[in-house]
Amino acid sequence: MKIMAVNAGSSSIKFQLLEMPQEEVIASGVMERIGLEDGIFTIKYDGKKEETHPVLKDHAVGVELLLKSLIEKGILKDLNEIVGVGHRVVQGGEYFKDSCLVDETVVNKIADLADLAPLHNPAHIVGIKAFQKALPNVPQVVVFDTVFHQTMPEEAYMYATPYEWYTKYGIRKYGAHGTSHQYVSQRCAELLNKPLKDTKIIVCHLGNGASLCAVEGGKCKDTSMGLTPLEGIPMGTRSGILDPTVVSYICQKENKTAAEVVNILNKKSGYLGMSGRTNDARDVTAGMEEGDHRCKLTFDVQAKRIVDYIAAYYVYMGGCDAICFTAGMGENVIHLRKNVLDRLAVLGVKLDEERNNVRGKEQEITADDSKIRAFVIPTNEEVMIARDVVRVAKLA
Ligand code: ADP
Repeated sequence: MKIMAVNAGSSSIKFQLLEMPQEEVIASGVMERIGLEDGIFTIKYDGKKEETHPVLKDHAVGVELLLKSLIEKGILKDLNEIVGVGHRVVQGGEYFKDSCLVDETVVNKIADLADLAPLHNPAHIVGIKAFQKALPNVPQVVVFDTVFHQTMPEEAYMYATPYEWYTKYGIRKYGAHGTSHQYVSQRCAELLNKPLKDTKIIVCHLGNGASLCAVEGGKCKDTSMGLTPLEGIPMGTRSGILDPTVVSYICQKENKTAAEVVNILNKKSGYLGMSGRTNDARDVTAGMEEGDHRCKLTFDVQAKRIVDYIAAYYVYMGGCDAICFTAGMGENVIHLRKNVLDRLAVLGVKLDEERNNVRGKEQEITADDSKIRAFVIPTNEEVMIARDVVRVAKLA
């Protein structure tokens, strides 16, 4: 059976068509620059990669073009072969405790939660509606990034702010990248050859957005992202945690509004702001290799903060079996993993430099006598979405 996993952003739709239950990718790709004159449609199938430049007026046009292409390229004979569609949704608040089938109430609730994910939730709804229009008889399932974090204990998700902020406005930590943290921790338990319920795992999802998660017995116990994806460690363009007074101070010094300063913390900080180069780890690595102090400092600040969380989670879980690195940087930036793991020598972590010399491939990277094992585990959010479609729409 064929399942479409969809990740719709404000100007893009990423997709993967999977054959289930084999979990084989039949086709994947992305439509970018939706709403602009010069759209980009990239599709990979049968070992081929094709790129075209259609005008993608809106998401509905993009989805129609995608489905038409699947037929034209012979990837599908008939659209009826798609028996379920799964949509990634960034923010499910406290309302959504599991993935679920889409109906009007669900769409309205996702819209209500848009305050907490203004860039993401509205875009997801546009994506859902576009697929509903194109495939009206196919079940659509929403899979939330926040659901995995709903098991956090109260003491981990509450902020020490006036309690009424929580009851009135839902101010608390919700976390992000839950689908990735869940996939990687489950895969890690397999590699450890231990039942998931007996494992204590720390997952470092280090992409352009980045978060850490303490996963005990397969359940999230704490995570570094908060009310929004700004909290936690420094990221591509986001600052991560800081003293909130910085906001009012810069407002006053630069005559800006709080919203403008928060926008800078989201879009002009992190790797980009610190290094003065770009948000891409490859550019910052090149700078570091040229001897640029700010580029080296960028990695050091991030590695230090990553270790702060790992140490906290180690204590909070009462130990740790494994540390996993995933997503664009976690899978590819060798020197960053070394920078992090070398700082953990005090916990008996021993990096194996030869094993660590790996990109984008599943591999153990610590020495055999390391007290905590570390792995690179490429994430696979799409497969988790497809599995949830099969489970929730009862397609098995
Ligand atoms: P997101 O999904 O949050 O946008 P990704 O997980 O795709 O991010 O990670 C993107 C980041 O990963 C890039 O900004 C880049 O810094 C880093 N990255 C990806 N591939 C490589 C590579 N081969 N070498 C070094 N860094 C890489």
